[in-house]
Amino acid sequence: MTISLLTQVKCSVCSFTSEQQVIAKTNTLGGSTALDTRQLEMIPSTSNLPIQVCPQCGYCCHHLAEEYPQAGKIVTSRIYQTQLKNPDYPELANWFLCHALIQKQAGEFAQAGWASLQAAWVCDDAKNDKAAQKSRQQAAVLLQKAIVKGENIERKPITKEVILIDIYRRCGDFDTARRICDNALRQKSEGIPIKLLEYEHKLLRQQDKRCHTLQEAVDIVSVC
Ligand SMILES: [Zn+2]
Repeated sequence: MTISLLTQVKCSVCSFTSEQQVIAKTNTLGGSTALDTRQLEMIPSTSNLPIQVCPQCGYCCHHLAEEYPQAGKIVTSRIYQTQLKNPDYPELANWFLCHALIQKQAGEFAQAGWASLQAAWVCDDAKNDKAAQKSRQQAAVLLQKAIVKGENIERKPITKEVILIDIYRRCGDFDTARRICDNALRQKSEGIPIKLLEYEHKLLRQQDKRCHTLQEAVDIVSVC
């Protein structure tokens, strides 16, 4: 369930107060969850994704009052301001990618990866395949850094391997996805995680780049 309301928020970077949307939603993964953890019942209302942008300085954050180390310095940097207005991406995707820059600088690689993946979902809805692919490639790199650092990116029952495989598969990087999938299949795994891996393996054989759900994976593998 999603509840949305408007509230006045003071930006932690420039102190400007603006009216922003606040989203409250339950975070349960269900059958209509995509294999990269996207909740498909929200499509195409991407405006419901939880990101705020300061109209004064361009700070992008889930909540503008939240402080991040060196956020002020990053927000005024050229790389940030270029991303904020990048015409190759939908506006909302730019906001997520800007937020990813701030989180990456703070060393929060998992959060930076999720923000990049959310940017990819926005690009999917805008049918901008090139921008979606670039956002996914960035998400994969950041999530792998997070794993190396020991951050947990699992969203039960979707394991970290399935998340990475799905991101690379949707990019069309079948070789990298297959390598991760083969390694994961060699390890002892059972229940839903193994079903998801077997389903990803099948999609990779078919060079399928489309979005698929948890429910499809469980249903199809059960029938086989
Ligand atoms: Zn601001």
